Amino acid sequence: MRTARYGRKIRKLYEQADEKRKKRYECPRCGKRSVKRVSYALWECRSCGAKIAGAAYSLTSEAGETSKRVLAAGAKGE
Ligand SMILES: [Zn+2]
Repeated sequence: MRTARYGRKIRKLYEQADEKRKKRYECPRCGKRSVKRVSYALWECRSCGAKIAGAAYSLTSEAGETSKRVLAAGAKGE
């Protein structure tokens, strides 16, 4: 990565994204605030185990979409 090309602006954006990433989100399946990011664009509910394919750094940015994309627990693939 050519870091020299990216200045403070990018770093600021990254920090904001990082803050969002650490937050917990409401589970579209059970409604509890126990959804945590487990890997890139993949979120998991600690309560009911639902896996959600969301945005990379924030689940809420696509809140309307995520409920449609809740993966069944124990589903094959992803
Ligand atoms: Zn849940």
